[in-house]
Amino acid sequence: MNLIAPAPDRTSAFLHPFSDLGSLQQDGPSVMTEGDGIYVRDESGKRYIEGNSGLWNAVLGFSDSRLADAASEQYRRLPAYHAFFGRVPETSARLARRLVDIAPVPMARVFFANSGSEANDTVVKMLWMLARAEGRPQRRKLLSRRGAYHGTTVMGTSLTGKDYVRAFGLPPEGVIFLTCPHYWREGRAGESEADFLDRLVAELEQTIVREGADTIAGMIAEPIMGAGGVIPPVAGYFAAIQPVLRRHHIPLVADEVISGFGRTGSLWGSQTYGVEPDLIIASKCITAGYFPMSAVMVSAEFDDRLTAASQEFGEFPHGFTTGAHPVGCAIALTVLDILLNRGVLDHLAGIIPAFQSRLRSFAGHPLIGEARGVGLMGALDVVADKPTKAPFPSDFEVGERIAKAAFRRGLIIRPLGNSVIFAPPFIMTRSEIDTMFDIVQATLDEVLEGLR
Ligand code: PLP
Repeated sequence: MNLIAPAPDRTSAFLHPFSDLGSLQQDGPSVMTEGDGIYVRDESGKRYIEGNSGLWNAVLGFSDSRLADAASEQYRRLPAYHAFFGRVPETSARLARRLVDIAPVPMARVFFANSGSEANDTVVKMLWMLARAEGRPQRRKLLSRRGAYHGTTVMGTSLTGKDYVRAFGLPPEGVIFLTCPHYWREGRAGESEADFLDRLVAELEQTIVREGADTIAGMIAEPIMGAGGVIPPVAGYFAAIQPVLRRHHIPLVADEVISGFGRTGSLWGSQTYGVEPDLIIASKCITAGYFPMSAVMVSAEFDDRLTAASQEFGEFPHGFTTGAHPVGCAIALTVLDILLNRGVLDHLAGIIPAFQSRLRSFAGHPLIGEARGVGLMGALDVVADKPTKAPFPSDFEVGERIAKAAFRRGLIIRPLGNSVIFAPPFIMTRSEIDTMFDIVQATLDEVLEGLR
């Protein structure tokens, strides 16, 4: 009998987020060890183009030493501090000012947290606190959209319009989901884009009237849905829904976790899609993925109300130990400098047309129903039958198949239901865009061939 237990596999103690835990037990994870420009390398030395910038965030790639230097300098000066009880690291106060200066609509103040999910929870708590302080405690309901992704804390999950939230018995009562503004998939037979938009506006109005405007704390929306499958809203969407929200005094929260800082081609997704939010959430690109951080920006009017509410309750009783971390803030200041002053956004503007034109050329491929996107983000929606737009059965996992085949060829792209999505680093060159899409072409042809 062998009394010595086999050494546990190096990675077996690691519990993976958003992964199929069963199949991982058999196949094991891909262990990544290094990054260089738009590439990451696994432990065997194989190199992959990161077609999703990690999780949309590593916009400056994986080897920007300016960010490492900014972190290192801050680690030597003030390596850790908080922002509770009226204190603030100097670097964090500077970042707040910088964000207010570049906000897409006038904003007064910035609250920092560690993740997009925490930022969304923060916003909901702010809205609920205002409602209570202002004598309207029934104002607790929240409007979101089917297909939207807003994170993984209890509130972030609750605002997410995806089926899997049922795994947690969520959403709770009081989160109301509106139709996803995706004309290609949600538009009815014979319905024009303008008619589709009218239907969405009518749905919003009817929902508010049915629920009672005075029971609704706010509406949350990404300017363009990201993890819902890169879904630009139907033309004119925000211009049409904002007057309805304003008429009913319902604040609009723009979740710019993905779209903030350039991804859509403007600095903010709100600029690309004409969103005029009362609150903005940003994360991901704010530190180019080099540090966990998020920000909630509030308008002056909202800030005044929050200050009054904090007097009512004695303080604003909310915060995270490492929110406003000075090292994260030092990195974010450097990211903003690199994006705005060192030519990265100009470079981005130069490569977007090539990215979009190669992406959209796949609309002609037999497997692709819709090729869509904006800026440096895009999706290919895979269909079993082009004329009817019928998707493959979900157990066929067509997105997974494509992503796995691309992975074998050295490209990381993300499957999302029936689509695969692209959000490469902003530093990508034109020739790297071509290399990426050449791999996509070969991958789609391979998957198509396997179906014959
Ligand atoms: N909101 C949006 C639009 C997101 O895409 C994400 C993450 O992908 C989140 C919120 C949650 O952010 P985090 O994973 O940092 O909690």
